[in-house]
Amino acid sequence: MIEVPEIITCVDCGQNAHRLSYSPEEGWQVGDIVAYRCRGCNDRWDLVVADPNDERGGSDSFDFRQWLADREA
Ligand SMILES: [Zn+2]
Repeated sequence: MIEVPEIITCVDCGQNAHRLSYSPEEGWQVGDIVAYRCRGCNDRWDLVVADPNDERGGSDSFDFRQWLADREA
């Protein structure tokens, strides 16, 4: 099962963006859309869940882990 964080850091203002989407009963799947709302600038972020076991990082799908890693860097 893929873990999706409750809170991410907004790319625009650096404040916390809280998850809007509830976890599906069967858990998150690759390709699911996860929505976040930033408390700072009120922007909405729609992220696509990427396969954590896929190291290639397909060009047509958003790399969720890399996105998070970039934000934390
Ligand atoms: Zn923001």
